[in-house]
Amino acid sequence: AKELGRSNYQFFTCEMSERTQQRVELETRLRGAAAAGQLRLVYQPKVSLDDGRIIGCEALLRWHHPELGLVPPGHFIPIAEESGLIVAIGDWVLRAACAQARAWMDAGLPPICVAVNVSALQFLQQDVVAWVTRILEEVGIPPGWLELELTESLIAQDIEKVTIAIDQLKGLGVKLSIDDFGIGYSSLSYLKRFRVDTLKIDQSFVRNMLVEAEDSTIVRAVISLAHNLNFRVIAEGVETEQHCHFLRAHGCDEIQGYYFSRPVTAPEFEAMHRQGKRL
Ligand code: C2E
Ligand code: CA
Ligand code: CA
Ligand code: CA
Repeated sequence: AKELGRSNYQFFTCEMSERTQQRVELETRLRGAAAAGQLRLVYQPKVSLDDGRIIGCEALLRWHHPELGLVPPGHFIPIAEESGLIVAIGDWVLRAACAQARAWMDAGLPPICVAVNVSALQFLQQDVVAWVTRILEEVGIPPGWLELELTESLIAQDIEKVTIAIDQLKGLGVKLSIDDFGIGYSSLSYLKRFRVDTLKIDQSFVRNMLVEAEDSTIVRAVISLAHNLNFRVIAEGVETEQHCHFLRAHGCDEIQGYYFSRPVTAPEFEAMHRQGKRL
């Protein structure tokens, strides 16, 4: 029995260290990813429900590793956040997205807003305002071309600090939105203090809003909450015409999702926008 116990224990530690090792390996590979040119951005259109036109896009990070292939953000973003690598990666993302916006501006594309996801660590660890200001200046785009998507979990961490940063970013002319709205743990009271532009309804509610009464209620409540507080509201994860109809009928302002387009490369997005693709 003693021997069995010991071998079980060894098996257990072996499995644990294997997982830890995989994580460490992924982290090591991720550390060199930006320099090795393995990071790319794809862009998913955001569309107005008023006139069906493209009003902007969200930049989404992709990691192409020569051996691992395409690693999904859901796998590496958490590692990047826990290891602190997200600060360097986030810097790469913001520069790349702004550089792309600049290229589109120079190419005479109609003005759009390019949204970038900013993680809590990036927002709280450094002077986010100085960082954004520097990149906007270096790249040379009007602040109105940039939107930052913040998550509720960020807000909950340090409401005071986040409120001040939001005010300063708004002062610069950058657009701000609260991502994945409704799944956070924070109270709603922060909303009255935040001068953000848009609430983004999390896709988990959109996914089931036509079949689950509770999700439908939450979606409608968020739309009316947003409007009563003078925010715009966008729904993500819109996959079908029915989703689109429901959201329009209830006054949602914008949508994003596979129904209109999956995330695409920059040239594909540019072509779509130039051709005036509409809902
Ligand atoms: P998110 O910010 O909520 O982004 C939306 C996710 O939903 C994206 O997944 C997008 O491809 C996916 N999506 C869009 N339309 C649909 C749809 O109609 N149906 C479904 N089922 N999914 C849809 P993706 O690109 O895999 O990104 C996952 C998450 O990784 C993002 O969620 C975001 O939290 C994080 N992420 C991605 N890029 C970055 C980045 O540059 N920085 C940071 N900090 N996080 C990022
Ligand atoms: Ca987002
Ligand atoms: Ca989201
Ligand atoms: Ca999400």
